[in-house]
Amino acid sequence: MGLSKVRWLNKVFALTLSALAAACATNPATGQREFSLMSEDKEIQIGQEQDAQVRREMGVYEDNELQQYVNDVGLKLARTSDRPNLPWHFTIVDVPAINAFALPGGYIYITRGILPYLQDEAQMAGVLGHEIGHVNARHSARQYSRSTASQLGLIVGSILAPQTRPFAQLGESGLGLLMLKNSRDDELEADSLGARYAARAGWDPAGIPQMLTTLARIEETSDNKGVPNWMQTHPVAEDRVQRVQAAVREAENGASAFTTDHDGYLKRMDRLVYGDNPAQGIVRGRTFLHASLRFAIEFPDGWDVANGESQVVARQPGDKPLMLLEVVPRPVGRTVQDVALRQMENAGLRPLDGARTTINGLDGYAGTYAGALQNLGRVTVHAAHLVHERTVFLVAGIAPDAAYGSVEPAFLKAIDSFRPLTRADAEKIQPNRIALYSARAGDTWQSIADRAGHGLVKASTLAIMNGYAVGDQPRAGERLKIVVPT
Ligand SMILES: [Zn+2]
Repeated sequence: MGLSKVRWLNKVFALTLSALAAACATNPATGQREFSLMSEDKEIQIGQEQDAQVRREMGVYEDNELQQYVNDVGLKLARTSDRPNLPWHFTIVDVPAINAFALPGGYIYITRGILPYLQDEAQMAGVLGHEIGHVNARHSARQYSRSTASQLGLIVGSILAPQTRPFAQLGESGLGLLMLKNSRDDELEADSLGARYAARAGWDPAGIPQMLTTLARIEETSDNKGVPNWMQTHPVAEDRVQRVQAAVREAENGASAFTTDHDGYLKRMDRLVYGDNPAQGIVRGRTFLHASLRFAIEFPDGWDVANGESQVVARQPGDKPLMLLEVVPRPVGRTVQDVALRQMENAGLRPLDGARTTINGLDGYAGTYAGALQNLGRVTVHAAHLVHERTVFLVAGIAPDAAYGSVEPAFLKAIDSFRPLTRADAEKIQPNRIALYSARAGDTWQSIADRAGHGLVKASTLAIMNGYAVGDQPRAGERLKIVVPT
């Protein structure tokens, strides 16, 4: 994403600018003087503005009790931190990716996707403390100072609130968020600060190395299919778990007892939505279903389907052709043909042919286009623009010119499968959820995944989710988190 990794506090630069005394402030977390273009008021203002965007585009997880819980833990940490008086906010965003992030000014987000991978309240406090550390040490504020807002492009839209340019994400390896990437030094600093805050507020600071160990296990077993997550926004330094130990020992010094609360935390995880939420679209094999937009589509056999924040992308594994599905942002035009031609033209694509069409009762316009797209070179595109409930959907197959002929039939078949769902059908699409399970003698992760877990997630996922290395087996009698259908 091209964010510079050069440390902001370049000494020569700082000396040159030291005359600007007003802009040189003491970093509240580190105690060091540094050059900052941003006042605290400005930090808060940026946080407020971006917070509205985060809430709109990622969605807030609908569970007031759980939100309150995270907010309570977060506030307790923040009030013992170096900037207790910032207007702190802690929010669970309705995102399946495993992540947590912060905006300047005290806005902290934790995804519902990371919650089941934490073992206790101390580990959750570790995640929140780490993010509070980023805010307090002004890591993101520093990045804002040296980047323009457009470069950051902080969060891109969800399929429900499309904000992005057509095809904007195709050049990226991942779908979804363009988040701030922190430097390794910033990460280590945030880990140490997090350990300090957690211990001061009464939680076991060992929660930080524990949750980092879990995240490292996820990284090892993940195929990193481009889902934006903690690992991408928080590069894992190999020695990060080791490096934080010193801070943990220091934080533990002199304290007598710490809270972890494994049992209480586990109870709160019961019934948590796991994976895609149907309200934002759900992938079942090669089928994509959307409960609130009420449609379904089948992508070609054997293709990987990824539900991004603003687009659904299906790819032929190991090959370039892909299919894209999105809500047309701010459609312009009197007819669907106008909308189609305008959007494709804006994406730099030239129409070769096209006609009005009807697909499963939906009016639309289908056409073939030619042009060049970032990272794909010269392409041929077959696209249908379909109107469903006053929303215009784009379904497109995109292939390099040479490959187009061989994949066109698969594109057409997928486009023809786009269909509206009845209200009754849409209501039947339910998410998977976390449930609690007591391990029996002889249980293995594999047997639990197969039977109690209905094969929804892999054995290795269950092991990691419960704080185990992939090779270790659960103990009989232990309470475990598993994934079940609703
Ligand atoms: Zn971080």
